[in-house]
Amino acid sequence: MWRLDGKRVLVGVSGGIAAYKAAELVRALVAAGAEVRVIMTRNAQEFLTPLTLQTLSGNPVATETFSLTQESEIGHIRLADSTDCVIVAPATANVVAKMAHGLADDLLTTVLLATRAPVVVAPAMNVHMWENPLVRANLDRLRQAGVGVVEPGAGFLACGYEGKGRLADVEELVATVRAALTPADLAGERVLVTAGPNREAIDPVRFVSNRSTGKMGFAVAAAAARHGAEVTLVAGPVSLPTPPGVRRVDVVTAAEMLAAVEAEIEAAGVLVMTAAVADYRPAEVARDKIKKGKGGLTVAMVRNPDILATLAPRKGSRLFVGFAAETADVLANAARKLAVKRLDLMVANDVARADAGFASDDNAVTILDAGGGREEVSLRPKEEVAEAIVTRIAALRRPA
Ligand code: C5P
Repeated sequence: MWRLDGKRVLVGVSGGIAAYKAAELVRALVAAGAEVRVIMTRNAQEFLTPLTLQTLSGNPVATETFSLTQESEIGHIRLADSTDCVIVAPATANVVAKMAHGLADDLLTTVLLATRAPVVVAPAMNVHMWENPLVRANLDRLRQAGVGVVEPGAGFLACGYEGKGRLADVEELVATVRAALTPADLAGERVLVTAGPNREAIDPVRFVSNRSTGKMGFAVAAAAARHGAEVTLVAGPVSLPTPPGVRRVDVVTAAEMLAAVEAEIEAAGVLVMTAAVADYRPAEVARDKIKKGKGGLTVAMVRNPDILATLAPRKGSRLFVGFAAETADVLANAARKLAVKRLDLMVANDVARADAGFASDDNAVTILDAGGGREEVSLRPKEEVAEAIVTRIAALRRPA
């Protein structure tokens, strides 16, 4: 799941300086379409007013277990029952300890004990508290009980120390909520994804490349991880952060990409070739920078190996997914490549459109399958297109 429309998310805010970041989190969840309710502990209200989170969530903020007005509007058991996911951000060492020992001495901990929805905690605290063996043991207990833990980041802390303890980025928090709400229908599956362009050197300073930015492939890797897969992402030269929970292998040339995919394929059950692999490379790489002269420059190019074709003999029961970036006769060309490359799915991509494809945040594709089936995915953010592709992959891997 990418958009959170129709999903009810309960945000628990406890009393640390990072409480102010809960405002950004609530805003991001609402922007993603979620119906957000907030519970603040008494200490959290020392850092941030309930009015702020009420305004951002569009819902009254719950603060008291035994407030007659609040209980009559929405009681603690109903709060626990009527949510699809709970995230505690920031989670103080104190709340973590109470949760780990099943205490329920305020509204937040009572709801956490009563809910059957998935629970995620995002700890934020001083580095020495974070390293305290008691805190570590409490977090281990929570993990064992099935609670998701979003590790804090490292950096300068509000308390003046430097180290681990900063609340994870809002984007990572939202990604964790998405993952908690997504069926783990690729659990136990190893998915290998390639993304981005290649660079083929002409000389030490010049190269030939293409317009791929890697956004589509990175979105596919993130979506597969969200669905519970163990994901390895072989990335060409791109400037994108590695999606949470994804193992990344960086490469530059098509030959390096082939070598990386060959090294990883044995362990993988699914291969998604999103990369815009360089079809040609200069026949020779000049040792020194080529001096410019009066005339033109002709660079002889040779073909790169086709990664999918090279791997075809090792396909076995693996699922192979290709992408066809086309500028004309998109579907016919994609269908031909699906057959020639013996793929299970081919994602046809019209890269001539200005509003989709390379370097755009959006994409519109048609997913073709080996049986002649076609699924249109109309123009939408690449993350949502990736969600559609991965949902399709999961359905093929686990036939009903
Ligand atoms: O034939 P074409 O390059 O259009 O096919 C695109 C698909 O093949 C993509 O999935 C791409 O990643 C893959 N490909 C490959 N090796 C190449 C070129 C493309 O595996 N050398």
